[in-house]
Amino acid sequence: MLDFNNTEIAFSSKSKSELKNAYLLFNVMKHPGIVKFGKFASTIALKIHFPLGWIVKPTLYKQFVGGETLEDTTKYINFLKKYNVKSTLDYSAESKKTPAGIQATFEETLRSVDFAKGNPNIAYAVFKPSTLTTDEILSKASEKREELTIDEIKGFREFKERFMALCQRAYDNGVRILVDAEDYCLQDAIDELTDAAMRLFNKERPIVFATLQMYRHDRMPYLRRIYDDSVEKGYYPGIKFVRGAYMEEERKRAELMGYPDPICKDKKATDENFDAGVKFVVEHIDRMELFMGTHNEDSNYKLAALIEEKNIDKNSPRIYFSQLLGMSDNISFNLAHAGYNVTKYVPYAKVRDVLPYLLRRAEENTSVAGQTGRELRMLKAEMGRRKGVK
Ligand SMILES: Cc1cc2nc3c(=O)[nH]c(=O)nc-3n(C[C@H](O)[C@H](O)[C@H](O)COP(=O)(O)OP(=O)(O)OC[C@H]3O[C@@H](n4cnc5c(N)ncnc54)[C@H](O)[C@@H]3O)c2cc1C
Repeated sequence: MLDFNNTEIAFSSKSKSELKNAYLLFNVMKHPGIVKFGKFASTIALKIHFPLGWIVKPTLYKQFVGGETLEDTTKYINFLKKYNVKSTLDYSAESKKTPAGIQATFEETLRSVDFAKGNPNIAYAVFKPSTLTTDEILSKASEKREELTIDEIKGFREFKERFMALCQRAYDNGVRILVDAEDYCLQDAIDELTDAAMRLFNKERPIVFATLQMYRHDRMPYLRRIYDDSVEKGYYPGIKFVRGAYMEEERKRAELMGYPDPICKDKKATDENFDAGVKFVVEHIDRMELFMGTHNEDSNYKLAALIEEKNIDKNSPRIYFSQLLGMSDNISFNLAHAGYNVTKYVPYAKVRDVLPYLLRRAEENTSVAGQTGRELRMLKAEMGRRKGVK
């Protein structure tokens, strides 16, 4: 029976000292003051080119990142494979917004799509659309509040070309590709392109996956629109569900700019929306594929129960559970042990470039009520269990 409290399976991959290090790190991250200070200090350090590797690498980086290069991640791919967990290699460089930096990020992401080709231990490729252009261009094109300048029109055209080139490469390589979801002000343009890419590349099977942030109260109607469109136009949608990572900023921005808050009124409403989305896709699994990214134990138990209720094979390639590297191993390893498909996002990039991603993880582990407490409880239980084992 599926039991996320089984710490022996959850941490079978971790040595004693790795358990201890993870315990210390989560203990530090639970203090919002320390994380806030860390964010402030690292922003300054980045600006003045102060070296950060010595403090970040042995701590946050070691816990949450697979390495600096694609080749570095091989060690994680092989390691996760031993526990029946697949990898999803995520080039997580977010800070290079110069034209040369954007081009380099695009080329590296293409390389990651090539790297996944024919590798049975890599489940998906993935990209974050905002890394392919500037936020100014993407938000202007997305919000349609004002006309784009000639340069911005050119910039947006280049963005669309890069976006489609990644999807085309995924299609050519037979690799499924996840389009990460982002801030509300950037998302309309991303949705439009993702819809177009699904129509183009998903004719035989889901290749391009749209990400739906279910903390948005408009996502169920969007999901139904995708489904109806796919029936009408004859393609197979891929759907990735998450709750959404930018709630606080979204609420603040909506208030500041004077538009209605796009986020569900409370956590319960987000949870219900999330459950409804997952159920909808499972009920249409003949046509759609599902990727569920969450560290919420209930959501994972519920999907496992739904799979059983609908008589779907546990390891049907149409359904994947997913967590981020370094988080909720109790969910990933227990699901994989029980025979479900699991993939870990394995981010990779140089320390300076991956810092925004790391700060989001640190903040998440501070702000997501209960989650850090759970990690600490689990780690402590396993350390205790091993002490008791002669
Ligand atoms: C594999 C994977 C891929 C991911 N990809 C993306 C991505 O592409 N884009 C993205 O934005 N995020 C992404 N995330 C992060 C994700 O959106 C969540 O921020 C994170 O997983 C925490 O949500 P949870 O379901 O794991 O946990 P939970 O603890 O159950 O949920 C926390 C989340 O609930 C929502 N919430 C909390 N309080 C409230 C409230 N008062 N009102 C309304 N909603 C509330 C917020 O979304 C918050 O992050 C990804 C996560 C994973 C595991």
